Amino acid sequence: MSILVTRSSMPKLEDYIEEIRPIFESHRLTNMGPVYKQFQHQLIDYLGVPELSLFVNGHMALEMAIHALGLRREGGEVITTPFTFVSTTHAIVRNGLKPVFCDIKPDDYTMNPEKIEDLITDKTVAIIPVHVYGNLCDVEAIDKISKKHNLKVIYDAAHAFGVTYKGVGAGNFGDASMFSFHATKVFNTIEGGAVAFHDQSFREKLHELKNFGIHGVDDVMAVGGNAKLDEFRAAMGICNLRRMDECITRRAEVAARYNERLGNIPGIRLGKPKEGVMPNHAYYPAYFDENVFGKSRDDVFEQLKENDIYARKYFYPAVNEMACYKDGGYAETPIAHDVSMHILTLPIYEELALEDVDRICDVILNK
Ligand SMILES: *Cc1c(COP(=O)(O)O)cnc(C)c1O
Repeated sequence: MSILVTRSSMPKLEDYIEEIRPIFESHRLTNMGPVYKQFQHQLIDYLGVPELSLFVNGHMALEMAIHALGLRREGGEVITTPFTFVSTTHAIVRNGLKPVFCDIKPDDYTMNPEKIEDLITDKTVAIIPVHVYGNLCDVEAIDKISKKHNLKVIYDAAHAFGVTYKGVGAGNFGDASMFSFHATKVFNTIEGGAVAFHDQSFREKLHELKNFGIHGVDDVMAVGGNAKLDEFRAAMGICNLRRMDECITRRAEVAARYNERLGNIPGIRLGKPKEGVMPNHAYYPAYFDENVFGKSRDDVFEQLKENDIYARKYFYPAVNEMACYKDGGYAETPIAHDVSMHILTLPIYEELALEDVDRICDVILNK
């Protein structure tokens, strides 16, 4: 049987039916109904964040968070990372802002805080770093820089659901954090997303933006869009959230087996969570150094494919090398380029058997 890079976690069908039964009774399908509100409160608890607004997906959550924070400004620049899913950059550009790419750290692939200050100009309005693979950025260093220069920080926390740093939930850092609940993520609502934040004045703005700018019943206060999470997806979230701890524990077992098998192989570099971070094992990245290991990342990718195993070159290419950005005159980021050429995320999901992890490792190691 083929092994894909991920497999969406799903509740028992009966559990989902129980959760959607009230929707069939009330005919209330969307527009921030009771299931939405229940799910929102459960997530605030689970993530340990003061405030949370739910969205139809992570991308719209990020786009509207940028808008709601008042960052749209003629010629405004946002310092961000090219080592991400393209959504992060698109969200900046679609707000009329210019991405300024900051290179990453070679050990954990998150934005390198030592390189941020050189990129700050009088046009800089914000920093949008990305937590990568279920590990977190250097939130303390980024916090210091943003305060010193009076810049807003929005974290793309699409990979960081349930992750904590020194016991504090990932959604507490910066001015806002975006989570994605896409089917391929550790926690899913099929499609879905959220913005976590602490400034209460932000609540109304986000609410308006995702609902056409409508304020109260009759007033339209802003040029909003439509990015509401519906009741059925909220119900899916309620079901999946119940099983989250179990799901992360299982992923940790899979990751531990990979670590055991690949941890001491010359030429393979594995992810290293920041000290104090409890990761969620969203992804299992392995960096292949062809000169030492003897096979390149692309060799390993192909060899796995021949064995019906589908890993993912992720993130590849770096965003500043994608067709729609490569001619934009953006600075080069050599570390992000290097990592994007050598990194492979191996299959990891709740139901992946340890025997399958062994099979994957056997192929990688030619055993
Ligand atoms: C998945 C993802 C997004 C987009 O989230 P969607 O819910 O799919 O819109 C943004 N950034 C990163 C890093 C992601 O992995």
